[in-house]
Amino acid sequence: MAWSLTSWLLFLGAACASSRVESENTNGASNAALLDEARARMVREQLEARGVRDPRVLAAMREVPRHRFVPPDVIREAYDDTPLPIGHDQTISQPYIVALMTELARPTPTDRALEIGTGSGYQAAVLSRVVGQVFTIEYVPALAQRAAKALASYPNIVVREGDGYGGWPEHGPYDIILVTAAPETLPPALVDQLAPGGRLVIPIGATTSTQELKLIQKRADGSVVTDSITPVRFVPLVKGR
Ligand code: SAH
Repeated sequence: MAWSLTSWLLFLGAACASSRVESENTNGASNAALLDEARARMVREQLEARGVRDPRVLAAMREVPRHRFVPPDVIREAYDDTPLPIGHDQTISQPYIVALMTELARPTPTDRALEIGTGSGYQAAVLSRVVGQVFTIEYVPALAQRAAKALASYPNIVVREGDGYGGWPEHGPYDIILVTAAPETLPPALVDQLAPGGRLVIPIGATTSTQELKLIQKRADGSVVTDSITPVRFVPLVKGR
């Protein structure tokens, strides 16, 4: 286990009435049930209530244990409606943003997907439940290593340490590209690596100003259609090692 018993008990204390926790927290089955309930509530109150509808995305959000992707000191907030710090000045996105980006990509079971900005590995884990194969690339070596460990039991995810500004051409083209850090302008390589019919979901804009989440779709003839979805706030996409 990556977190201490103390953090674990604190988290459980936050997840339900504390008197009940004390009588149940020696029982692994009860703990798992409480975590499942916290996650189910997250799906109802943060995702369904805000209009996330894709049943496969909702199922993935219900199944993937977000608490296993956050550092021990924030485990008790794992199912809160907020991004959380994961070290190295980076964050794991708010659950709603993870679900929204996944739904916007219209995932199907045979899709090949690329994620730029692995971070904790949580978005990659969610995506891996709704597509065929996920390639994910992370700039900060320590995060890439930690995410690779957290994702070791996910058979259809490949994690690489490196700069994803130019995508990951070796495995392209991709049906889906999710970018979880914001460039100031759209990197052309990402559009190039999108398959015909492919969907790219990406926040664009300077970190100091408003960023906009965009859905960029490539038609069969190679032309591109861009929709602005909603204002967002992401860490910057680093350009260039
Ligand atoms: N998807 C992540 C959240 C990532 S935060 C999750 O589910 O936890 C954004 C991440 O993008 C950070 O970890 C940051 O280090 C990474 N990043 C920034 N620029 C990058 C680049 N050029 N290539 C790859 N990763 C990058």
